Amino acid sequence: MHLTNRRPRVIDTSRHFCPHGHCRYRGWLGAGNLRANGHPNGGPWRQFHCTACKGYFLETHGTLFHGTRESVELIVRVLACLAEGLGIRGTARVFEVDPKTALRWLVEAADQLRAFAAYFLHDLHISQVQLDELFALLSAVKDGEVSEAEAIVRLERSPQWVWAAMDPESKLLLAIDVGDRTLARAQRLVHHVAQLLAPDCAPLFLTDGFREYLTALLTHSGDWVQPARQRAQGPAPKPRWMPLPQLLYAQVIKTGRRRRLVRVRHRVVFGTLEAVQQVLAACGWQSNTAFVERLNLSLRQHVAAIGRRVSTLCKHEEGLRQQLMLYQVSYNFCLPHASVRQLLPQPEPTHGTGSARQWRPCPPAMAAELTDHVWTLREVLLFRVPPWPRPAEG
Ligand SMILES: [Zn+2]
Repeated sequence: MHLTNRRPRVIDTSRHFCPHGHCRYRGWLGAGNLRANGHPNGGPWRQFHCTACKGYFLETHGTLFHGTRESVELIVRVLACLAEGLGIRGTARVFEVDPKTALRWLVEAADQLRAFAAYFLHDLHISQVQLDELFALLSAVKDGEVSEAEAIVRLERSPQWVWAAMDPESKLLLAIDVGDRTLARAQRLVHHVAQLLAPDCAPLFLTDGFREYLTALLTHSGDWVQPARQRAQGPAPKPRWMPLPQLLYAQVIKTGRRRRLVRVRHRVVFGTLEAVQQVLAACGWQSNTAFVERLNLSLRQHVAAIGRRVSTLCKHEEGLRQQLMLYQVSYNFCLPHASVRQLLPQPEPTHGTGSARQWRPCPPAMAAELTDHVWTLREVLLFRVPPWPRPAEG
């Protein structure tokens, strides 16, 4: 045994994979085939060497930072600003970049974020899904920025609604979309949510009174049923399209007084009252009206900031959708949510004289146990999404 002065190299390669097409280990995480190889030419990014195919690649391979000469900090800050809901032109002015450059980064980031979201959000087991559609100009009306009449004129010209699906327990934002308030859009949202769920997961759907949800849920979770014969003679009754027995759907009826929510009731549409109440009671917020109010408020605040841009961004509806994608990932993975908290393994002393901290707020993806840490936007953008789905753990 001989001693060396060199520190053992402890570069974590577990989140990286070899991208080379001919490599046997292509796309595999944690296969032990990668060696960190330092920073070529003193560049900012680390190089990896694959011992299986003897190939080299940079840690930014396949991310939006690959081959860019712009500062990473600048790109991250521009995107963080867009995630907060500031418009493209405003963001470009703040950071003194060309609006076209900011839009290009947003479009490239959205591709990465879509893959990122798909990598983590799949086979979900959740007990409730809340579907909401918010009028995108709503907050602009409230703030007095545009008159209600003007908003309606704009709405008729280009009706814009922000559609959102959320797990009210973890606050995980499952899907977010923008568009008109139609059956097609409701179906699209329901379909999107259904794709994220585990095959055996049949959550309780909660919506407002918008009637197209009923049709959307029924078309998605229905089946032909042959009714039993009433009489021995005559033609057999026609098969009927019926909701699947496991489909649970309730409408949430909110009663307000002076813009404050005073009561929340549930009208069961599909399923039994007992089954619906069981799901709601398990989460312990059956009569928690403040919760629903807060949930809608936080969603509205964030989305409205983006929604307010709708009028100026009509020409770039794609840009808006990509901004929502950015918002969704940053909301789910990067922003600790005040009403979602985790017990700390050990209480932490506070700087003041108060008692030790026992809880910490965590982002919805952590509450939903999809990840074990709070992500920075930089980390998300640098995450190399493997080309194939994550193998089942455990
Ligand atoms: Zn390789």
